[in-house]
Amino acid sequence: MIKIIQDAGHGGVDPGAQAFGVQEKVWCLEASTYLNNRLNSLGLYSTETRSKDITLDSISRTNLVKESGATICLSHHFNAFNGFARGVETIYPLRSTNVLATKIAHGIRDTSGFPLRRVFQRKGANGDWYFMHRLTAPVETIIIEYGFLDNKTDFQKLERKEFRKSLYEAVVKVICTHFQVRYRYGTYDNGYDEMNIIKLKEGLSTKRKTVEKYEISEDIPGYMTASDAKYQRNHATIVKTGVYYIFHKSEGMINVTATKGVPGSWIQPPNNETTRKTTSKTKIRIIGNVQIVGVNHAAILMDRPDRLKAKNMGTIAKDKIIPIAGSVKGKNNPYGYWEVIYEGKRLYISGQFGRRV
Ligand SMILES: [Zn+2]
Repeated sequence: MIKIIQDAGHGGVDPGAQAFGVQEKVWCLEASTYLNNRLNSLGLYSTETRSKDITLDSISRTNLVKESGATICLSHHFNAFNGFARGVETIYPLRSTNVLATKIAHGIRDTSGFPLRRVFQRKGANGDWYFMHRLTAPVETIIIEYGFLDNKTDFQKLERKEFRKSLYEAVVKVICTHFQVRYRYGTYDNGYDEMNIIKLKEGLSTKRKTVEKYEISEDIPGYMTASDAKYQRNHATIVKTGVYYIFHKSEGMINVTATKGVPGSWIQPPNNETTRKTTSKTKIRIIGNVQIVGVNHAAILMDRPDRLKAKNMGTIAKDKIIPIAGSVKGKNNPYGYWEVIYEGKRLYISGQFGRRV
């Protein structure tokens, strides 16, 4: 019997990409439970790495894949980049051919009408670039990026649950055809309440209640509960430098989040400063954070969104996280620009050097 394991990307303290009030982890889980249910009902054998909103680190996640006895792992994701990029991507490991990854990408493209962005593999210093590929050998793990959450055109379609389900069903059909299992159309609903998204979106756009912010000036451990943070046990994640919203405070600990109104990670505030003011005394509205990527050392901060005419206002080091007020098309860069907030000022970095986190 063909065994397949579904991997819902992210989960728990890791929301994945966030845009337009949606957290990637929610749709990843929806995709995983859909595939799991449908494939099992069609006579294949499918399991999941997670069936709930829980945190899985890379080791436990990949161990689950390896111990499942599956030959195929489908890792479900929704993409985000600079707001302009869009379309379908599948990523396959260095040890595999592109055959199944290509069929899946074509299936989603044909059903969605989205462009096919790429089917690719990526090499890093120690083998595969992505841990899901590197740590799951010999399983053929295919990362599926159904579309871009942060692209308006993709999002306007993706936000409809029936549309998302049609993409998952396209993958079901591809898997059946590939493994020569008789395909019969069907559907599955995991009961996830679409209203959650709507409420969340309303919360973001209309509730102008000021939410306290908290600046983290060096990477610190993040925990799932306030008591874990207090006793510094069961360290679950790293909260990177950046400006966060305060979701909740308890026992002197703070729950910080990148998305207003959504729980994030618990931290133990350095020096017990639970009311530390952000250094940016700015009225500029923060919509999220980007991490500096794709540069050798640092990205240039510009005074206007035009690489050729801008004044160089300084640099921000690779891997650093910086709050953003938005993104703009600007001039002389096909990737556009991130509008970043730096020392209270509105500055710009090239779109390809920032990734939403
Ligand atoms: Zn993802």
